[in-house]
Amino acid sequence: MGYDYDSDNIFAKILRGEIPNDTVLETAHSLAFNDIGPQAPVHVLVLPKGAYVTWDHFAAEASAEEVMDFTRAIHAVIEKLGLDPASGGGGYRLIMNTGPDGGQEVAHLHAHILGGKDIGKMVS
Ligand code: IMP
Repeated sequence: MGYDYDSDNIFAKILRGEIPNDTVLETAHSLAFNDIGPQAPVHVLVLPKGAYVTWDHFAAEASAEEVMDFTRAIHAVIEKLGLDPASGGGGYRLIMNTGPDGGQEVAHLHAHILGGKDIGKMVS
């Protein structure tokens, strides 16, 4: 048990620059890029650059600076893409799939931002 980070995962390779990505935004501790298989008109993934497997790993062990950076990076993407209802956007869905039951495929923490159309009330 515990948090066992596999540095061969595809997002680790993206963060090391070994695989290209379609960057939306980069900060000191976070990277956001377009999902390769978009499930909505807007589908952006936001990652902390640190080696965290899941949200729980990050929440338990990341520094306050990393947590703030990740939180603000997600918000900055939402603002950049005009999704925030408070700024006239239509809204969005924020998802972190976690572990086998949560459908997590890539074992490096990432938040999905989905929007650009009415994506309904079902969690996908
Ligand atoms: P998960 O199921 O929450 O782990 O989501 C993994 C996501 O990563 C999926 O939506 C994939 O389409 C996406 N993905 C996998 N490989 C790449 C890539 O090389 N670039 C961008 N997105 C990717």
